[in-house]
Amino acid sequence: MDEQGVREMIGGASRIVGFTGAGISTESGVPDFRSPDGVWARNRTVDFQEFVSSESGRVEYWRQKAAAWPAMRDAKPNAGHYAFVELHRQGRLPALITQNIERLHQRSGLPAASVLELHGTTTEAVCLTCGDRITSDEACRRIEAGERAPRCRACGGLLKPATISFGQAMPLDVMARAQAAAETCDLLLAAGSSLVVEPAASIPRAAKAAGAHLVIVNREPTPLDGIADGVVRGEIGVVLPAMVAAGG
Ligand code: NAD
Repeated sequence: MDEQGVREMIGGASRIVGFTGAGISTESGVPDFRSPDGVWARNRTVDFQEFVSSESGRVEYWRQKAAAWPAMRDAKPNAGHYAFVELHRQGRLPALITQNIERLHQRSGLPAASVLELHGTTTEAVCLTCGDRITSDEACRRIEAGERAPRCRACGGLLKPATISFGQAMPLDVMARAQAAAETCDLLLAAGSSLVVEPAASIPRAAKAAGAHLVIVNREPTPLDGIADGVVRGEIGVVLPAMVAAGG
């Protein structure tokens, strides 16, 4: 199907669920994981098991976090984020499922209640023992002041960015709401995800299995391109606004 066909398919849909990955935020200056200049080109992964069991793992995790935070905090939403706001304004976006952790969708104007964060958020840190939360600004200030892996001031437990690390359990309530949204939409619009991280990538498959159209916008091929009804290659900030404007 050509781009015009995809535009018409989106234009004809009345319940569109968005599904986004790190690629929608690269044009805001936030690197993704898997591109050549992505996070993985520069950092090693500290998984959840290492974080909870090793002080040096926590120090390394927080070092990476503190280095990445200013760019994430200061990033501004881009045209790709605003394309989803436009779908919301049109009354056609009941939910936006995201793997992203920097809250750019909420900052672009989507109501927080309609954004389902599968991998949590990096804007806060949470105590793994008592659940107390502090802002990432505060956590990073404490690191700058010499705490290399900050601990909870309420109970002494381990403070961890409120994201879901590799090896850490997914938030079951958010997964269930995402699954339900995917199964009741008539089109799932995936943008900027390599669609290789599970179980997140199972969501677009579930939408398709429930009868929705699946449209994928990504710079590179994904493993789900073969089952998609439309695949558009290109820079999200360029192609997505044009695709949703036609639907008005
Ligand atoms: P990913 O890094 O695996 O894939 C990103 C995809 O987007 C790639 O296929 C890449 O080719 C494509 N892409 C990058 N920029 C693009 C652009 N401007 N236009 C079109 N396509 C573009 O990311 P993922 O699928 O989200 O999964 C990785 C994990 O990384 C997720 O769990 C997420 O939580 C985490 N992550 C989040 C952020 C963020 O919050 N912004 C940043 C890095 C990683």
